Amino acid sequence: MEKRKICIIGGGASGLTAAVMAAREGGEVTLLEHNEKTGRKLLATGNGRCNLTNIRQEPSCYHSLSGTLPWEILQGFSLQDTIRFFSQIGVYTINREGYLYPASMQASSVQELLEMEARYRKVKIKCREHVKEIRKEEKGFQVVTETWNYPADKVILAAGSRASSIQGADGSGYELAAAMGHKLIPPLPALVPLKGRGNWFSKWAGVRTEGRVSLMAEGQIFDQAQGEIQLTDYGVSGIPVFQVSGRAVRLIEEGVQVTLLLDFLPDFDRRGLESFLKSRQEQCPYKSVKQLLIGLLPQKLAEVLTMGKPDISGLAYKIKEFPVEIVGSKSFDQAQVCSGGVPLEEIDPKTMESRKAPGLYLAGEILDTDGICGGYNLQWAWSTGALAGKSAAQDRVQNGEEELSC
Ligand SMILES: Cc1cc2nc3c(=O)[nH]c(=O)nc-3n(C[C@H](O)[C@H](O)[C@H](O)COP(=O)(O)OP(=O)(O)OC[C@H]3O[C@@H](n4cnc5c(N)ncnc54)[C@H](O)[C@@H]3O)c2cc1C
Repeated sequence: MEKRKICIIGGGASGLTAAVMAAREGGEVTLLEHNEKTGRKLLATGNGRCNLTNIRQEPSCYHSLSGTLPWEILQGFSLQDTIRFFSQIGVYTINREGYLYPASMQASSVQELLEMEARYRKVKIKCREHVKEIRKEEKGFQVVTETWNYPADKVILAAGSRASSIQGADGSGYELAAAMGHKLIPPLPALVPLKGRGNWFSKWAGVRTEGRVSLMAEGQIFDQAQGEIQLTDYGVSGIPVFQVSGRAVRLIEEGVQVTLLLDFLPDFDRRGLESFLKSRQEQCPYKSVKQLLIGLLPQKLAEVLTMGKPDISGLAYKIKEFPVEIVGSKSFDQAQVCSGGVPLEEIDPKTMESRKAPGLYLAGEILDTDGICGGYNLQWAWSTGALAGKSAAQDRVQNGEEELSC
């Protein structure tokens, strides 16, 4: 029996995984990547160390307009499957408080081992090949690049998103998906710094402080996260801000007013903080309200919190619920991922095959799922890539006709 020809568009995290899985299942795989090498974004992950997944896996770690569909998909290639897969190709993982990294602490080892396994499985890796069209033929497809037409029985679109300034993240995959009949939930920056409205930001720029961030809109708290907040000359950044940023950006896009409430002393409740500050004042009556914060909060932050000379109760309120109205985010270039993309309802969750264009499979960030920080976006890429690769190679149905086997 002739081998099934599988063409993969994009040599990133999901495309390389798809290539290995499809080749293991006996597919004749060609992978097209428009950069001069595979996995450029992968090399930048986790500050070059690659936080490749996380022990804590819950539906709430993945955001999508399709509710818990990402979770359903992830069950098809789970955390355990992922750890096993990486162990098989030679990536020994270590656990840092639930965050898994390659023991080498080098993202380059993950990229190198994926590519080695793909080459060993005879995957043809063609770099500097920009795919500009997927052409549906009577039987199968032609994948059209600037220089060549690649015939394929099955195509896996794993072209990633528009996020980051890393070369290759041009969003051209969205156009390819749309041309194949897919709808697009407008991609927006996520895991991104947020810009605020106000004239005090230069005063607190450069401060990094532990705190809790609450995303408030329409009178309710939509999301919360805790960790090191970075105060900047345009607004706020840092991991807890990243965690709520995707939702904030989408709400703003929908015309909703969004405010972040910053809690700079999450270990206190407001009343407790007020009486603590009052007793400090009684012990040291010579201190101004601002001086009461020396030793409690960074000085630049204290300056902002005491603007307008609040009394003790007003100060406690500001420390616990400092409001920053959010007007937008930094650009795609400064985002780590995108929210939005191809809706999951347009994909078979068991196989990742398109319901719009049978024979086409989609994997990775091009789909409408974005994970929180902590290895979840790569987990999504590994799981969807593995499912797409495996099913594209195994699938026995072609152009509506069941292949006969004895
Ligand atoms: C700075 C940074 C740090 C990050 N750190 C982490 C982390 O530690 N943990 C984590 O889980 N996630 C992290 N992420 C997110 C993670 O890297 C992505 O979610 C993941 O790489 C997405 O995988 P993908 O295969 O969908 O896309 P990509 O890895 O972006 O791969 C897509 C590939 O397709 C190629 N391509 C696109 N269009 C075409 C075309 N038309 N023709 C040919 N080739 C094309 C691109 O060049 C690219 O190589 C980080 C992201 C950034 C930017």
